[in-house]
Amino acid sequence: MSGTLTTPIPTTVPPFGGRALAELRERISGRVAIPLDPDWDAQRAAWTLSVDQRPALVVRPLDVADVQTAVRFAAAHRLRVAPQGTGHQAAPLGSLAGTMLLRTDLMRQVTIDPVAKRARVAAGALWLDVTGPAAEHGLAALAGSSADVGVVGYTLGGGVSWLARSHGLASNSVTAVEIVTADGELRRVDEHSDPELFWAVRGGGGAFGVVTALEFRLYPISTVQAGALFWPIERAADVMHAWREWTEGLPASVMSVGRVLRFPPFPEIPEPMRGRSFVVVEAVLQEPQIVADALMADLRRLAPEIDTFRTTSVDELRALHMDPPGPVPGLGDGALLREVTPETLDAFVAVAGTPRGEALMSAELRHLGAEMAPGRADGGVVSGLDGAFLLYAVGVAPTREAGAVVQAAVDDLLAAIAPWRSDADYLNFAERPVPPTRIWGDETDRLSRVVERVDPGRLFRSNHEVVPPNR
Ligand SMILES: Cc1cc2nc3c(=O)[nH]c(=O)nc-3n(C[C@H](O)[C@H](O)[C@H](O)COP(=O)(O)OP(=O)(O)OC[C@H]3O[C@@H](n4cnc5c(N)ncnc54)[C@H](O)[C@@H]3O)c2cc1C
Repeated sequence: MSGTLTTPIPTTVPPFGGRALAELRERISGRVAIPLDPDWDAQRAAWTLSVDQRPALVVRPLDVADVQTAVRFAAAHRLRVAPQGTGHQAAPLGSLAGTMLLRTDLMRQVTIDPVAKRARVAAGALWLDVTGPAAEHGLAALAGSSADVGVVGYTLGGGVSWLARSHGLASNSVTAVEIVTADGELRRVDEHSDPELFWAVRGGGGAFGVVTALEFRLYPISTVQAGALFWPIERAADVMHAWREWTEGLPASVMSVGRVLRFPPFPEIPEPMRGRSFVVVEAVLQEPQIVADALMADLRRLAPEIDTFRTTSVDELRALHMDPPGPVPGLGDGALLREVTPETLDAFVAVAGTPRGEALMSAELRHLGAEMAPGRADGGVVSGLDGAFLLYAVGVAPTREAGAVVQAAVDDLLAAIAPWRSDADYLNFAERPVPPTRIWGDETDRLSRVVERVDPGRLFRSNHEVVPPNR
């Protein structure tokens, strides 16, 4: 008996009673998981396997009614709610103690309206659920580089697609949002109905409630000229310099990435790449082939070892960036750069292109500008990105020791490019907590007022909080 009394209560015991849990399970058509469940580790896992999420419970709703039940349960039991689609950006969330993880992965319905050129997607849809069905109608979505990124998480944070220089951030193409707020009510929000909340969710992230559906514009683009040029990593300096010069006069129809890419020696990786390291230029050109070939000529003169450019359906763009096909223990971080000068590239290559950066599987610079410049009147709180280029560096960290090595390499690269870093950060590429003003700048106060109106008790936890928890 005394042994029982002195045994500390494990912190994983949920902060509600068995009867409440039984009632919740009864009312939710989807799944409710708690730490005592045999498959708890699978239920709580994020796409980013290096993040060890330990919420009080996980709820996986099947429909909007389940979301409302879950939100009301959390409010009644003084839990916070962290909405999550895939867990691609689980890293900045931090401790989930006292938090319900609300995973939307069972809600993946997608409807394409080819006449109105609109998509309507449920909370848990992935980009691969949208791009194929849209392409069947000759339409393109402003999808990210990776097919299994969640549409909602990506779009609430902004969303830099392969079409971003011509069509802007994905958040600016949203036409309506359906959201369950802290009172458990479902609201449909658009430019006429609560325009302030509509402004806030388009770039403000997941701080306002659980988004159960998004509607957004699609564009009549069915094929593009796209591909990648590969050179051995020893060419990193001259190729990256040539790529930067090439970006200077480009039309908005061209979006490109310059990167260093190290392929692991895994058998599933094709022979010319397996175990080798490259400097790579990827590009998407919304141009006829003859124009694209003329534009690419300067880069092809550098005699790439591999050239994959061809006419490509917009659905196939999901493979262009060679992102991992499923969950990985990745660890990375990003930064917006005001400008990229020859000196910036020397600093980038000195880390990313040499053994100093060998823990980095990928270190990339995305060329921004054109329609991604901030200041669009019809945009949300994040109408564009305050930088000319976007950096992202990532390595694989299956163990704590490997994580320390990757983190050191990421930090080394960020320190090297620091003189050119913008004062702003991009929510979707900020893998560590950052002050809200670095994401939303002067709009942070206006955004905070929206949070305080729709969620006065601070029920919701976003991966990047608008109002710091201790305020
Ligand atoms: C391999 C890879 C490739 C990527 N490529 C791109 C790219 O090309 N362009 C780009 O811009 N970004 C890209 N990203 C970044 C990506 O956009 C962010 O990680 C984004 O947050 C992922 O959304 P998610 O729903 O999959 O992730 P999650 O971690 O599930 O969600 C992130 C956050 O979004 C919010 N959220 C998610 N669902 C809801 C909901 N239903 N209601 C309310 N809030 C919600 C929450 O605050 C949550 O913490 C990439 C990331 C990775 C790892």
